[in-house]
Amino acid sequence: MSFPCRRSVSAWTTRSARNRVTEPPRYQLRSGVRLARGKDGRWLVQDKALRRAIRLGDKDARVLRLLSQGRGLRFDQLVGKVGNAAEVRRRLGALARLFVLAGPRSRQRLALQQEAASGVKVGQERTDEAIIFPQGSNPPRHACVATGACCSASFLGPMSEPDRLRVSGLTLGKRSQVSLGSEALESVEFQGQELWGMRRIAGSCVALGDDGLCDVHAEHGYDVKPIPCRQFPLRFHRMPWGLHVSLLLACEGYDRARDAAEPWPSRTAEVRGFVAEGAHVPACALPFEWTAGVPASISDTQTLLGALQADEAADDACPRSWLAAIIDKFERTAIERGEDLQEGPELSGSLRLATARLPGQLRDSTPWFDLAGLTAHQAHLAQRSAMLIARDEPADAERLTRFALGIDALKANLQLQPRGDFGVSGPARRHLLDVVANDLPAQIAIGHLDAGLTNLAVRLRFIEALACALCQAEGKTQVTARHTTLALKVAYRSEPDITALAKSRTEPPS
Ligand code: SF4
Repeated sequence: MSFPCRRSVSAWTTRSARNRVTEPPRYQLRSGVRLARGKDGRWLVQDKALRRAIRLGDKDARVLRLLSQGRGLRFDQLVGKVGNAAEVRRRLGALARLFVLAGPRSRQRLALQQEAASGVKVGQERTDEAIIFPQGSNPPRHACVATGACCSASFLGPMSEPDRLRVSGLTLGKRSQVSLGSEALESVEFQGQELWGMRRIAGSCVALGDDGLCDVHAEHGYDVKPIPCRQFPLRFHRMPWGLHVSLLLACEGYDRARDAAEPWPSRTAEVRGFVAEGAHVPACALPFEWTAGVPASISDTQTLLGALQADEAADDACPRSWLAAIIDKFERTAIERGEDLQEGPELSGSLRLATARLPGQLRDSTPWFDLAGLTAHQAHLAQRSAMLIARDEPADAERLTRFALGIDALKANLQLQPRGDFGVSGPARRHLLDVVANDLPAQIAIGHLDAGLTNLAVRLRFIEALACALCQAEGKTQVTARHTTLALKVAYRSEPDITALAKSRTEPPS
């Protein structure tokens, strides 16, 4: 995939001439990077400055070996040795994105490593930390309307250690399916860590009564409940400039209470309280990378996020078009930055944005996904669903069945008007706009910005398609808030499946 080049070869040569460089640039290995065979015989890049080791394929390793000799090689010299200009451009682009070539890109990456090391540690809580709530004049808000949605997640944690000790010492009442708090806990292993949560039976917490009320709350009061129960559906992400708060839109009560909910700033003390008590707060990784090979400073990323959030959508705006405009803006900025960092003119257009062609897909009506990939995903869902039924987990099995219905809807390319056949009510449209407004900072916090925006677009498309399918199943043609609410619940409880869907997106021909 190539992108328009902002800086032409002649412009590059002019700048070189200004710098009294009379010949084209030589591509070189960055100093401090070593290429060696690993114990398994495969090529390994050892990079002390960035504290990492990267495996390389034979073709990339061959180019890197050539570049590591003497003063490096000009592009034409490299083509002479490798024999194919397109192949050389492809390999150089891949090596540049790994920051192993000498040049402005690697210098920027190393400087940002310093910034990340010398600044405030992103993982640390600070009492003066800014709390940043969902933005806009009508952001998604929340007030509990006791739907019990928080008590039927596939994992009811993770608890802090004080949570675990407090709950395990409780006695429970007649709502609960167990009488001792110590019997109401379960743990899962995640990335080598043991995480604790409330135990589930048939998909719901053992402390949830038939009346939909919590036994821990009823017997011991709100404050005794574990943090994840009190925090739901608030979701936190720590960035260098503050703590972003968003909502898990799986909570069926989030929009029912939209008008009744207190304005966000009134929840500041509550959020600080959760954080001080040990709530789970994932922190973004530093330095930021907008896409592979485009590192960016903290202040530049904060400015970019502000710019992406700046244009608020009207209540009757098309959610997909709004997100397309946001991604357009991101791509323009990222491409411009990437071009400024290129090692030589031959690498112009060598970025590989995960969002490539996504704005067009958001705006038009053509299918997004590879049908074979969707079918394989459905088969996997069916297997997992059968396993959950065998384990007496009917609620999770039903969620997977609904996810599979969403995939059917993607296969049939069900869409809202004007692209498709389904009308949409105002509140349902508002739900889709909420997905964009609510998730933008959260997606940017979790990795490369282009991957986060792709995930967000796929989530939005999936929710739209599933809502259409739920509407169709009732023999109707107008999607309402009831359909979008259920589609939100399925999507926000199925993060790994949404990520898997994002990987089976196809790129239309250029
Ligand atoms: S402890 Fe109470 S609030 Fe928490 S998941 Fe169980 S029933 Fe729900």
